[in-house]
Amino acid sequence: MAEVKSFVLPELPYAYGALKPYMSEEQLKIHHDKHHAAYVNGANNILAKMDKARAENTDFDVKSTLKELSWNIGGHALHSLFWPSMSAKGGGVPGGQLGDWLVKEFGSFERFKKEFTTAANSVEGSGWAALTLGSQTTRPYIMQVEKHNMNVYPAYTVLMVLDVFEHAYYIDYKNDRGKFVEGFWNVVNWDEVNKRLTAHL
Ligand code: MN
Repeated sequence: MAEVKSFVLPELPYAYGALKPYMSEEQLKIHHDKHHAAYVNGANNILAKMDKARAENTDFDVKSTLKELSWNIGGHALHSLFWPSMSAKGGGVPGGQLGDWLVKEFGSFERFKKEFTTAANSVEGSGWAALTLGSQTTRPYIMQVEKHNMNVYPAYTVLMVLDVFEHAYYIDYKNDRGKFVEGFWNVVNWDEVNKRLTAHL
């Protein structure tokens, strides 16, 4: 049997200041080192609690524990996809298979950008906008993920995510999510998104 592992906080694939001025060093450091780390630690702590209860054959509150676990694992998984979705050399218009795929679906890149932006800006409360590859249809779908785990289509491959929790932008943009989303388009890492698409199509 494979060795049981814990969740690990991945390092950022760039320096904390690499995404300036769209994301400041301070914002990125807090986001990664505090918020993302909290989901990693949260998930590991819940697993430890479940291990203990199972070892002692005692009860735990299954419903609330599973909900809490899903929140933490979802947060960890989405943040792990979010960091490589951006790059200091990002922005612009996607090329390659990704560019063709988006134009085929949306008619133009501008149209995709507009729909994704509207999706990100209108996520209710805290959540994410995600570009995904649909199973069966091989079409792109934009998802609005509420919190870390609601409205996720099972088995759809997530290609790119944008975090619109207020903790992603409050230092740089106060409560102006729209300005933050606008900034994201300057750092989005199309090469990485294209690589993920090509690997899964
Ligand atoms: Mn976040």
